[in-house]
Amino acid sequence: MSNPPFPYSIRESARARYLRFRVTLDKGLEVVVPRGYDRRRIPELLQTNQAWVDHALRRVDEVRSKQAAHAARTVPTQIALPSVGRVWNIELVPTTARSLSIVELASDRLQLRGDVENIDLCDSALQRWLLRQAHDILTPLLAAASRETGIPYARMALRKQKTRWGSCSSLGTISLNVKLLFVEPDLVRYILIHELCHVRHMNHSKRFWKLVSAYYAPYKEAHRRLKDAWRKMPRWVA
Ligand SMILES: [Zn+2]
Repeated sequence: MSNPPFPYSIRESARARYLRFRVTLDKGLEVVVPRGYDRRRIPELLQTNQAWVDHALRRVDEVRSKQAAHAARTVPTQIALPSVGRVWNIELVPTTARSLSIVELASDRLQLRGDVENIDLCDSALQRWLLRQAHDILTPLLAAASRETGIPYARMALRKQKTRWGSCSSLGTISLNVKLLFVEPDLVRYILIHELCHVRHMNHSKRFWKLVSAYYAPYKEAHRRLKDAWRKMPRWVA
């Protein structure tokens, strides 16, 4: 008989009347056998039931890795927004409340107060805070870039996206990714100029790039740096 395809443990049970396979989170694969069972038969039975056991073990693996990922989630102790060169220290104040509030105590101190053990609540409080920051920080920057280029826009919208930093609609709405707060100021400026130039040219034609480079010459380098920037996003930003 070849080696069994899976590691397993054997448990003799006085109540068991037949051999039974069990897959659990804490013990993995367990073979439950009645008293006096001929254990030499187990490898063969395992092979006959390989598909079922395989499937059950895979599911246990998935649950385990999800649990590990969940356990690794913690509230950050600090938030840095390179776009404005500011850093906030996070303080956690546990209370008996089942909700969570976020308070800016000083220009560099953020307090999370309430059910701070609940990571989902903490994440969404920080995300709400980030959205307010994005509004306060990006609104005047876009207005300034518009004045500088002389290109008007209809309104600014904020989004949270995984693959794009900004976009410009045919109606002149400029959408900006809140994750821009985590990139360097000159890269933010590049994105603002890029999207404003789309008000004039709704494409990436030569004329578009010529207009962009009139205000931001090293745009190719900016593209490379922006590609790297995705990898630096804090976990809680999602
Ligand atoms: Zn574009």
